[in-house]
Amino acid sequence: PKPLRVGRAQDSELWIDEPGISRKHAHIEAVRDGSGGFDLVDAGSANGTFVYGERVARHRLADGELVQFGATAVFRYSVTDRQHQEMLANLYEASVRDPLTGIYNREHFDERLRSELAFARRHGTQVSLVMFDIDHFKRVNDTYGHQAGDRVLVQLARTVSDAVRIEDVVARYGGEEFVVILRNIDVAGSAVLAERLRQLVERLEVEHEGRRLQVTASFGCACLSCCVERTGPTLIATADMRLFEAKRAGRNRVVAS
Ligand code: GH3
Ligand code: MG
Ligand code: MG
Repeated sequence: PKPLRVGRAQDSELWIDEPGISRKHAHIEAVRDGSGGFDLVDAGSANGTFVYGERVARHRLADGELVQFGATAVFRYSVTDRQHQEMLANLYEASVRDPLTGIYNREHFDERLRSELAFARRHGTQVSLVMFDIDHFKRVNDTYGHQAGDRVLVQLARTVSDAVRIEDVVARYGGEEFVVILRNIDVAGSAVLAERLRQLVERLEVEHEGRRLQVTASFGCACLSCCVERTGPTLIATADMRLFEAKRAGRNRVVAS
């Protein structure tokens, strides 16, 4: 059997889209001694591969072992064949993604924000947040039904994901509220991106039962250096306050100061 590749490269069988994961991080390969066993092999990753916290270069896996890639991606090895391996990958995906839209969920956002902030503090780099919320979304549901609303959420999420860089994290923060984490971008840069997203949302046409639905959204931007405290909750609160300000000022706009 072909080895199971683990990494941030999109063609990895176990694709882990996190900053601490190398493109080609590790692989799991069948041992050729007829034992039916598997070796976990680190592929020269930057942040290492671990079994029960011990860094390994090559390790014969035993059932039930705790395997960790980089600082955050932890799995329990209980695989005996390819099908199980795929299931493992699917389980991981299901745990980090929002089932409706397929973008990252709130839990994953929280975890990623923590690790991005830790990185930024260590290296003195910048992190920005763009939070946005669909305008008068309740009206869409009330006028066209919940299914139409769902469709808008799905297509809007896809539009936004396609418009940002691969390393930017797009997540569903709440019902019709979204958030983007931007690395190495200050608040002015995040406002440029937010304005681009605002226009994309405004131009988006969602087909539903022969109609074309359109929505707008309001955006709030914040970066670490515009917060008194360089913490996740403060960054979120600042972006959220500006989003509220954008709503108050008439919606369909970006507020970044
Ligand atoms: P505002 O411009 O102030 O944001 O107005 P709004 O109507 O968008 O705000 P409000 O928070 O009052 O309403 C949000 C609506 O989003 C209400 C809720 O039913 C809807 N919603 C939340 N999650 C989902 C979902 O998963 N699917 C659908 N179809 N609607 C959802
Ligand atoms: Mg809303
Ligand atoms: Mg809302």
